[in-house]
Amino acid sequence: MADSTELLERIVAPAGTGREIRDAATGEILGETPELTVEDLDAAIARARAAQPEWAAVGHAKRCELLNAAADRIDAEAEALATLLSREQGKPLNGPNARFEVGACSAWLRATAATPLEPEVLVDDGQTYAQLEYRPLGVVGAISPWNWPMMIAIWQIAPSLRMGNTVLAKPSEYTPLSVLALVAVLNEVLPADVLIPLPGGRDLGAALSSHAGIDKIMFTGSTATGRKIIESSARNLARLTLELGGNDAGIVLPDVDAKAIAPDLFWGAFINTGQTCAALKRLYVHDDVYDDVVAALAEVAQQMPMGNGLDEQNVLGPLQNRQQFEIVADLVEDAKAHGGRIVTGGAPASELGETFYPITLVADVSDGVRLVDEEQFGPALPIIRYTDLDDAVERANGLDQGLGASVWSGDRAAAREVAARIQAGTVWINSHGGVDPRIPFGGVKGSGYGVEFGVEGLKSLGVPQIING
Ligand code: NAD
Repeated sequence: MADSTELLERIVAPAGTGREIRDAATGEILGETPELTVEDLDAAIARARAAQPEWAAVGHAKRCELLNAAADRIDAEAEALATLLSREQGKPLNGPNARFEVGACSAWLRATAATPLEPEVLVDDGQTYAQLEYRPLGVVGAISPWNWPMMIAIWQIAPSLRMGNTVLAKPSEYTPLSVLALVAVLNEVLPADVLIPLPGGRDLGAALSSHAGIDKIMFTGSTATGRKIIESSARNLARLTLELGGNDAGIVLPDVDAKAIAPDLFWGAFINTGQTCAALKRLYVHDDVYDDVVAALAEVAQQMPMGNGLDEQNVLGPLQNRQQFEIVADLVEDAKAHGGRIVTGGAPASELGETFYPITLVADVSDGVRLVDEEQFGPALPIIRYTDLDDAVERANGLDQGLGASVWSGDRAAAREVAARIQAGTVWINSHGGVDPRIPFGGVKGSGYGVEFGVEGLKSLGVPQIING
């Protein structure tokens, strides 16, 4: 394990001047985060605005070079970044967790730099010549959540910078140190004021999103906050990309091999101990294979150690914060009270720490129970029995959310037909939740609008300009 002390020393506030941030697993104090006030915001936005024209003038090639150099710096600091992330967020170093997240940050920077974006000739018929090109928007406010703090911040920062915008990065109040450390490493290679961190509370996020000096908000977080940001945008006309909550359904067809799909089902639901936007959050399983799938999932769950993230054997960690722990515990209690059968877990793992909740599979529940209808964002999965596929599709589409979904079958063509009927931004077949910097990702309905990644993602960080003539 690398030491993150030196990294922490560069970003924490002097003792007594900030807010204490604790290790998510042990409660030990990691350091104090600086917190900016709404008054500090004007000055930060003025700096970002002043730096933007020069950054735009640098051009795509040089900006891409700098994104690649920033990726190299992340790789050089990877173990220290992962250690800090593991402690602050709670996710283990090992498994698809902290090291994976830091690796994704440099991979995303490189992929963003490698995405081609040429001017498009729209009409060239001898009489009219019209060309479309994307110009920078100006200043982007990047507001991120606490579940994948570094990776989601990079998803917002990388395309914004690539397109010639300057960025104010507002981390979640729960995980500011991870983002401050990431930004500090990026700023070793970026010009001054191109990327400015904005640690602070929810009021600072609200002030940022309604500020007249902001041209675009990239937001990832809850649907409730997303609605407030939409209201703010009526005042400053900021463009929005909104990646909001999900309650992803998975539909398992009767032809599957339960044991073979169980590991992928498990990680689809429980990556980052279930605290993932596009995790599998409701599993609909055909009656023919229901018992086999429940048993196979329980067997996988028993092999996955949970505990302190710095312990290399663990692949599951605590809930990041007390509030999320209480949401999960409450939803499981409610499911029990409504006839849910606990297959594994079902009560806090207090022996591990204050906010640990074990992998909890709840069978024999159905729609109408809160654990199915509400986003749990934690390690509890309701497994719902179905007999009629049309009915399962209707139930999968029955909520006001549509981030991801998945269909599980040995017959890919049949699965694709089912996928086309599901209202979700992405439908995976025989996997759930994998993202790729070349493939657009975004939600429908209450899960938001706009897409990130790929060429479409870059275009959303620019203003289309037509040169006609
Ligand atoms: P949240 O909405 O509480 O907070 C997200 C960010 O918004 C934080 O930085 C917060 O300080 C800021 N904020 C709070 N109030 C604000 C306001 N009025 N104006 C502007 N900013 C404000 O969300 P969270 O609890 O941090 O994250 C969990 C949620 O995020 C879940 O619903 C999850 O599904 C969703 N999420 C979605 C995606 C996606 O890609 N669609 C990814 C990760 C998480």
